[in-house]
Amino acid sequence: MWWIFVAVLLANYFIMRVFALNPEPTVPVPYTVFKEQVAQGNVKSIYSKGQNIEGQFLTPVVVPPAETSGRLPGGDEAVTARNFTTLLPVFVDPGFETFLLDHNVEIRAVPIDANNPWATMLFGFGPALLIIGFYVWLYRRASMRAGGMGGAMFGMGKSKARRYDQATTERVTFDDVAGIDEAENELAEIVDFLKNTEKYSRLGATAPKGVLLVGAPGTGKTLLARAVAGESNVPFFSMSGSEFVEMIVGVGAARVRDLFRQAREHAPSIIFIDEIDSIGRARGQVVVGGSSEQEQTLNQILTEMDGFSGKEGVIVLAATNQPDILDKALLRSGRFDRRVVIHLPDKAGREAILQVHIRKVALDDDVRLDDIATATPGLSGADLKTLVNEAALLAARKEQATVRHQDFLEALEKMVLGPERPIVMSAADRERIAYHESGHAILGLVVPGADPVHRVTIVPRGRALGVTYQRPASDRYNYPEEYIRARIVGMLGGRAAEEVVYGNRTTGAENDIEQVTQLARNMVTRWGMSDKLGMVKLAPAHNPFLGTTGPGRDPSISEQTAARVDAEVQKIIHDCHDEAIRLLRKHRHALDALVSALLEHETLDEQEILDVTGLPPAPALKDLPNAPKTVE
Ligand code: ADP
Ligand code: MG
Ligand code: ZN
Repeated sequence: MWWIFVAVLLANYFIMRVFALNPEPTVPVPYTVFKEQVAQGNVKSIYSKGQNIEGQFLTPVVVPPAETSGRLPGGDEAVTARNFTTLLPVFVDPGFETFLLDHNVEIRAVPIDANNPWATMLFGFGPALLIIGFYVWLYRRASMRAGGMGGAMFGMGKSKARRYDQATTERVTFDDVAGIDEAENELAEIVDFLKNTEKYSRLGATAPKGVLLVGAPGTGKTLLARAVAGESNVPFFSMSGSEFVEMIVGVGAARVRDLFRQAREHAPSIIFIDEIDSIGRARGQVVVGGSSEQEQTLNQILTEMDGFSGKEGVIVLAATNQPDILDKALLRSGRFDRRVVIHLPDKAGREAILQVHIRKVALDDDVRLDDIATATPGLSGADLKTLVNEAALLAARKEQATVRHQDFLEALEKMVLGPERPIVMSAADRERIAYHESGHAILGLVVPGADPVHRVTIVPRGRALGVTYQRPASDRYNYPEEYIRARIVGMLGGRAAEEVVYGNRTTGAENDIEQVTQLARNMVTRWGMSDKLGMVKLAPAHNPFLGTTGPGRDPSISEQTAARVDAEVQKIIHDCHDEAIRLLRKHRHALDALVSALLEHETLDEQEILDVTGLPPAPALKDLPNAPKTVE
C-alpha cells in the first residue's frame, strides 16, 4: 500500500523532470568545457544550485562521448547539447563572477534545498515512508501466517503452543497434586464438564469460560492445570505469557488467534496461559516500548474469549502470582470470572506433598515425614520437591542405600541457608558466636510464648555464622501480640548476650536487627498494636499472595505521623532489648553452660539443649502461631 504511493511519487518526479520541465536532455559537461563556452560568449544563462550549475548554451554544442562518459541515452555517440549541467570545482577563483558577467551570462541562483518540490518531498519523507512501509509489510506478513495463508518465511504468527498429548508426555493427574484440596475440588468441576460436555449442554448449562489460578510461585498452578488436562483426557494447549511478548508488533495477537483456533478445532480442549500477568498487566501502566504490543495481545485474548459462547467446550485456564496488577477487563464476567486461589500448604498439606514426591525414593525407616512437615512452614510444593531431591542427592553422595531423616534435615539447612562453608575462625570469634546463638536459644526457652528451640549450631552456613532453629508446634494464621513481642525479644537475644558477656558490640546482629525492625514496624503500621497510634493503617498496601511487607510508607501519611511511627518502633525495640538483657543476666548460668556445650559439639538438638541448660521448655501461650523458624 505505502510502497505503491512511494512508487507513484518517484514516477511523477522523473516524468516531470524529463518531459515537462526539460524537453531537451541535459548534458553533463566538464567544467573546462563550460568555461570555454563562457569565454566564447556562448552561455546564455545559468542556474546555480550550490556546487551544481545548470544552464543553456546559445547555440548547441557538440559534446564528444568521452566527456559525457556514456551517461546519456545514445551511448558512445557525440551529442549535441543545448541544456547542460556541470559541477563547480571547490577551488573556483574569486574572479569567477566578473568573468561570467563580462561574457553576458545571466546568473540565477536557487537555494540548495528548494529546488524541486517533488524531490524535496521524496528526500524528506522518503526514508520515513520506507520504514513505515516495512513495518506494515511485517505486520501483514504476521497476520497472514496466523490466518494460515502466505509463505513459510517467518512463521512468527504461528503459536508455539505445546500440546501435551497423553501418549507422548507423562500424564499428570490429581494423584500428583497434594495439599491444595480446595483448589483441586474446584477444578474437579471443570474436569467433569470437559468429560461430559453433552450432559451440560443438554441442560442448557454453560461452563465457566475462564478460570484464573492465583497463588505464590511454586504452589502448583502449572501442575494443577496439567492435571485437569490429564484427568479429563482432552488436548491441552499451553503457552506462557512471556512467550507472547515479542519485539515485532502484532505477533502476540496473531499467536493468540492461532492458539484459540487450534483449541477450537480440537474441542473439547483446554487453553492454558501461564504467567498471564506478563501480558495481562493493566493497560496504560507499562513501560514505554512494550505497551502497544502487550495491549494488542491482551485485547486479542479479550476478543477471543468474548467470541465463544461457552458451549464449544474450550476452557481457558490462566495462572498468575500477581492478580492485583491484572487488567480489570480480564476479570469481568464472561472472561476469567472464576478465581481459584492456591495457598501455601499447611502442615498436613506439606506432609501430603512430601508423600507424593517420595514415591520413587528409597526411604529409610527412620524418616518421620510429619516432623519434616512441621519444620517446613512457608515452603511451597516446589520447595518440598526440591527438598526431597536434595536429601536423595546427599544420601547418594554418602553412598547410602536409603535416604535417612538426617539427610532431610541437612538438605533443609542447605536450602534455607546455603551450603556449609569452612571458614578459619579464631577461638575468640567462635566463642562470641556461641554466646550470640546461645542468647537467642536461652530466650527461646524462657520467654513465654516463644517457639520451641529445636536446634542450635555454630557451623557457618551461607552468610550466617551460626543459627538457632525455632519451630512452631502447629500452624496458625493469627498472631497474638505477646507472641510477636516474644519473637522480638528472642531475636534481640544474640546481641544482648554479647553485651552481657563482653560489654561491647559487633556487626553480627545485622540480620536480627533487620527482622526485628520489620516486625516492630508491622506492629505499629499494620496490626494496630501501638496504643499511641491506635488502629490506623499506616503502611502501604502489600500483596497478600506474595506476602511481601516491604518498607516505605503510605504517601498519604504526614511527616509528623511518620515521625511518631518511628518513635513507637524504636520504643518497642528498646523495651524488648531491656527485657532480653534482664532475662539473660538472670539465666547467666544456663547461658554459659550452653556455650561450653556448643563449643564442644558445634550443633545441639532440642533434647541436648534442655539437658545442658537444665531449663524447662518455654510455657506456651494459648495460641501458638506459625512463624519463621530460624534466627542467625
Ligand atoms: P507454579 O506454577 O505455581 O509456580 P508449579 O506447578 O510449576 O508451580 O510447581 C513446580 C513443581 O513443584 C511441580 O511440578 C510439582 O512437582 C511440585 N509441586 C508444586 N505444588 C505441588 C503440590 N501441591 N503437590 C505436589 N507437587 C507440587
Ligand atoms: Mg508455573
Ligand atoms: Zn542473631
